[in-house]
Amino acid sequence: MKKLNKNTVCYRMSCKNKPALYVKQDEPFCLETMDAYGDRLFKKDDFFTKDMWSSVNPATGPIYVEGTSQGDILRVDIIQIKVRDFAVMFVEKNFGALGKHIKCNETKRYPIRKNTLFVNDKLNLKIEPMVGVIGTAPAGRSVLNGTPGEHGGNMDCKVITKGTSVYLPVGVEGALLCAGDIHALMGDGEVCICGAEVSGEVTLRTRVIRSFIPTPCVETKNHLYFIGSAKKLDEAEQIVLDKAFTFLNRCLNMGSNDSARIMSLAGDLQICQVVDPLKTMRFALPKSIIRPFNSGVIL
Ligand code: CA
Ligand code: CA
Repeated sequence: MKKLNKNTVCYRMSCKNKPALYVKQDEPFCLETMDAYGDRLFKKDDFFTKDMWSSVNPATGPIYVEGTSQGDILRVDIIQIKVRDFAVMFVEKNFGALGKHIKCNETKRYPIRKNTLFVNDKLNLKIEPMVGVIGTAPAGRSVLNGTPGEHGGNMDCKVITKGTSVYLPVGVEGALLCAGDIHALMGDGEVCICGAEVSGEVTLRTRVIRSFIPTPCVETKNHLYFIGSAKKLDEAEQIVLDKAFTFLNRCLNMGSNDSARIMSLAGDLQICQVVDPLKTMRFALPKSIIRPFNSGVIL
């Protein structure tokens, strides 16, 4: 299997990035990834400083996927996520809604053994590794990896785990896919700025999809999650509801009033994160409500 070293990273998703690896569709490949801090924070007084912002969230890649062109949709299957044996978390005074409770800037390191993160003698948590940053190069512009958007990027969506698929737009020929910023564990919101930040390895496989699906979107065993990011949560809510409605209305063909009612009955509006430059939400639709009506590729 082809493998890309974790020093082969980019800090922005851009059509100007030169491909680091070429893969065929359905060909599995492995990316070594650095943690969100670029593997630079280890001890209590290792601080994340303002001048490190431009090099936050290094993402391994870009990967040129053969046979993709602008306007396609790329399905990325998350085959495996492996993490190292410790995670780090940096908290910052006065950053975000919890910042007023933070006494001083501080890095903490938590051991990970046997799929468990050890907080202290009394508390340990089962890890649920997820990919924080995954995206493609947007057409005609570039976006720093710290920012989420329509191209994917720093969505910090905890449902992007092993066994799921992420649907992303193809903005340029080859897609120029990148991924990084694995979290061993993170709750919805990522409320104190970070998850359990780890370096590791992600094994992926990609395929071009030519049926309709709003992106970014994540498919799990039982759900489709439509993702959107904006400065304010109200705006992100509107984006994800519009995406889910457009998709559902097209699948069900029952009329828009019924589509809206079904979203209200069976869909869940959820928060991915509130600490990146744009906030990210997702709307979850159970596949069971779509399946009887849809014979498309994705379900
Ligand atoms: Ca992170
Ligand atoms: Ca992140």
